[in-house]
Amino acid sequence: MKSYDIIIIGGGPAGTSAALFLAKKGYQVALLEQSRFPRDKVCGEFISPAADAIFSELGVLEAIESLHPLRLKGVVVSAYEQSVFQRDYPPALEAGRQMTSLSVERMVLDHLMLDRVRQSPVEVKEGFKVTDFLFDNGRVCGVSGRDESKTEFKLKARIVVDAGGRNSISLRRLNLKSDSGRNGKIAFAAHWEGVRLPGNYCYMHISRPGYTGIAPTGEGRVNVVLVADRKCPSVSGVDVFYRQTVLGNSLRRDMLCGGEPVEKVRIVDSLSYSVRPPQCGGLLLVGDATGFVDPFTGEGIYLSLRSSQLAAGMVARALDASDFSKDWLANYDRLRRQEFYKKILLSRILQRLIYSPSLCIRVVKTLARQQELAGLLVGVIGDYVPAGQVVSFGYLMRLLSGWLAGGSAPSPSDPVVSQPQVSRLKN
Ligand SMILES: Cc1cc2nc3c(=O)[nH]c(=O)nc-3n(C[C@H](O)[C@H](O)[C@H](O)COP(=O)(O)OP(=O)(O)OC[C@H]3O[C@@H](n4cnc5c(N)ncnc54)[C@H](O)[C@@H]3O)c2cc1C
Repeated sequence: MKSYDIIIIGGGPAGTSAALFLAKKGYQVALLEQSRFPRDKVCGEFISPAADAIFSELGVLEAIESLHPLRLKGVVVSAYEQSVFQRDYPPALEAGRQMTSLSVERMVLDHLMLDRVRQSPVEVKEGFKVTDFLFDNGRVCGVSGRDESKTEFKLKARIVVDAGGRNSISLRRLNLKSDSGRNGKIAFAAHWEGVRLPGNYCYMHISRPGYTGIAPTGEGRVNVVLVADRKCPSVSGVDVFYRQTVLGNSLRRDMLCGGEPVEKVRIVDSLSYSVRPPQCGGLLLVGDATGFVDPFTGEGIYLSLRSSQLAAGMVARALDASDFSKDWLANYDRLRRQEFYKKILLSRILQRLIYSPSLCIRVVKTLARQQELAGLLVGVIGDYVPAGQVVSFGYLMRLLSGWLAGGSAPSPSDPVVSQPQVSRLKN
């Protein structure tokens, strides 16, 4: 049976970045991907500014830049068609650099990343679906599965890294998913053409029955992702429901007028889930396989890259020490949770906020007036300002005093569009 130092399951951002990090350390790595690339993926397709540094370390930033991707300057958030704030990413403190987020379609980005892995010493096996783990004394020591021709394979490894995303084999085989589908949300996505957005921003419009993220992806295309309650349409009515809901909000209607979706609407069900750490040695999880809150803050790709960076460090130490025990590898889980804890907490707080209309309208209105607070929030969402600067008593107090200084609660007869309406915002 063929044997490697490390087997990686999945060729998305988490898997390819893990492969590149580990190949740089000189290990013998195989990456197994069930699909053939290019393959598509439902995503908002804007990537936190902080991801640039990791792409650069992996040696892929130049290749991404050579595609001349759009760079988004910041975010515009509207709440229930009543209040709006627009905020550019604040400069990064240490370098005084203007920060931007990359906007690249996943079909392109994931293909580019996998190509990079192909050019490295990593053995890439496309069309290889992992269906189970091999165990030795309760520790994972390899994988088994089928390739495209239905031929079965078994491969051994000292460590397996599962980067299989939200449907990864670990979650199913080891039953690691908890509270899956509790928030009952479903995402609908399609690219549109014929739209002229007011600027290069990510536009988040919150309204019933959910919210949309709208971002230009270049060459006249715009990605429109709707996140709504799960009790929405029948399968046959998906495209109609998506169109009607997206255009049911007047700001979105203004913004998208003249445009049309140019593909069938794609869906991701049961958006949010938590994951328990594996109770066996020899296995690490990275990327979406570690859990997912909600795409509102759009940082899944950055978290995938960063979790793989942390995992690669831990894998190297485990290989050096020849210790692949559950306890040793649990150090990675601790490290990851420590680093992401406040960001995930913020995502959960924002979830509560966006589904409480009057609170949401007031907070957005306050942030429109308090540009410094808005800047901190946008920097945290961009993953380069520590989440603790927003998830803190001090921030809450400043928000509250800004709120109180702003007067009484809005009502439909007292519209609070504190910035020019989104559709009229200039570049
Ligand atoms: C609606 C929505 C909008 C989002 N918007 C954004 C956004 O704007 N910005 C952002 O940064 N993030 C966003 N995200 C999150 C982002 O898409 C994910 O965090 C990211 O794709 C995770 O990468 P990954 O590599 O862990 O998983 P994936 O990208 O899902 O890759 C997993 C890969 O593993 C392969 N695989 C799975 N199982 C097996 C198996 N058994 N054998 C072999 N191969 C296997 C799959 O084929 C796939 O290619 C969004 C997510 C959703 C649902």
